[in-house]
Amino acid sequence: MKIAILIGHGQSEGGSYDPGAVNGAYHEFRIAKEIGKATYERLRQLGADCQLVNYDGVFSLSDRIRQFRGKEVDFLAEIHLNSGSSTASGPEVYYFPGDETGQKYAAAISAAIAAALGLPDRGAKASDYYGIIRETGPTACLVETCFISSPDLDKVKASSGQVLAGNAIANGIAKAAGLQSTASGWTWNGSAWHYYKDGQPLKNQWVKTDGWWYWIGNDGQMCTGLQEIDGKAYPLNDEPKEMAGIYIPAGALMITNEKGEIMHE
Ligand SMILES: [Zn+2]
Repeated sequence: MKIAILIGHGQSEGGSYDPGAVNGAYHEFRIAKEIGKATYERLRQLGADCQLVNYDGVFSLSDRIRQFRGKEVDFLAEIHLNSGSSTASGPEVYYFPGDETGQKYAAAISAAIAAALGLPDRGAKASDYYGIIRETGPTACLVETCFISSPDLDKVKASSGQVLAGNAIANGIAKAAGLQSTASGWTWNGSAWHYYKDGQPLKNQWVKTDGWWYWIGNDGQMCTGLQEIDGKAYPLNDEPKEMAGIYIPAGALMITNEKGEIMHE
């Protein structure tokens, strides 16, 4: 299954910069592209065959439509921020009227964003207004992540929120597509590190990577600081630092020998 993640705006038909909706110093395009990048990276992590289009803002809407006239990919999603009143809130995702597959994707993406950002879910909406949906071949969705015109903006101002939103969009797509992840390794979700084994997040267990032991807590997050585990206290490094010429990553178990030196295998 081939997926394309597109960023809305960036370049007008005349070739000039198109910021999309603007609220003060915040441009829809600049925020949407970071959300789209996170979506793309998360989908790649989930093993999807995925491409990211217009991250550099060099494709106008007609360029983007031309690129996906036929069945170049199976599914495409274009990332936007919504604009409306100063009290409007929550994600909504558009699909072509009558496209049941599109509706399934739109509902899954909208629900995932709402849950991740803690916003009301405005849900899947049918519309033939958007060229990127109407004039392209693949099943297509236009994702209005949240409102740039309201306090929703606070959720995606910083890169941590952009990553959260992007991961949520990817997770929604993966759910609708039935993608099974086989990924293993560390994942940053915007606020904490998680460790996946064969696509499943680990919890309540030790993980050893690059010669360091880490504790994954009950909530699936990598722990730092002094932790009591099975009745024993373990010092886990608070933040990355160098000691006696050894770089110690955040979360690493600090085992010392009888001389007080940090042990690292
Ligand atoms: Zn837009």
